[in-house]
Amino acid sequence: MLIIMLGAPGAGKGTVSAILTREFGIPQISTGDILRGEVKKGSDLGKKADEYMKTGKLVPDDIIMGCVEARLAIDDCKGGAILDGFPRTIPQADALKALLTKMGLKLDAVVNLEAPEELLIRRLTSRRTCANPSCQAIYNIYTRPPKNEGVCDICGSPVLQRDDETEEVIKNRLKIYRDTTLPLLDYYGREPVFFSLSCIDAGETVDEIKKKMKKG
Ligand code: AMP
Repeated sequence: MLIIMLGAPGAGKGTVSAILTREFGIPQISTGDILRGEVKKGSDLGKKADEYMKTGKLVPDDIIMGCVEARLAIDDCKGGAILDGFPRTIPQADALKALLTKMGLKLDAVVNLEAPEELLIRRLTSRRTCANPSCQAIYNIYTRPPKNEGVCDICGSPVLQRDDETEEVIKNRLKIYRDTTLPLLDYYGREPVFFSLSCIDAGETVDEIKKKMKKG
């Protein structure tokens, strides 16, 4: 089973993917998380990616495809995966198509999460993330603050604002999203497994996704 989660930064892809992972027993592959892990490790790939990520630019397609191919080759992806934040460009979508054919996997759903831009900006600027790469719990200063300010409830590591979640960088990420990633809605729009949903409550969105997948 393969599910692609599309949508602007802050639309809820990560939260919805995490629930789908538990429901379907297949891993969530977030290219953003993979890259942040490499940045933390200080690997060559991480150093290269960090130059783009800090300012909200997209990391080049060849780097992304290397990460995705390596991740999909791991045994836990035999039954498929939920792709969160990938593909983000037409060349990535073309490369994914070829990769899926090679792996004998088919697309079961392409889900586009919609949200108005003001909501995305508010959500992302108020988001805080646990700095521990193996935890990465997500908080929100208004709706889900940690019990002790700045300290992760789960692992006790610092809870910080990501460099790419300041208002200036977010506006840049949204512009790049409109210019480069939005065309993917046309790319996948003709597929029978494509559908668009708004995401206010992640649990309800997951129920809707499951309903639509059963109908398809
Ligand atoms: P995310 O956590 O998915 O919002 O990703 C954070 C950052 O990682 C993005 O702003 C990009 O710099 C980079 N990134 C993640 N996924 C991709 C991708 N599929 N293509 C290019 N850059 C990506």
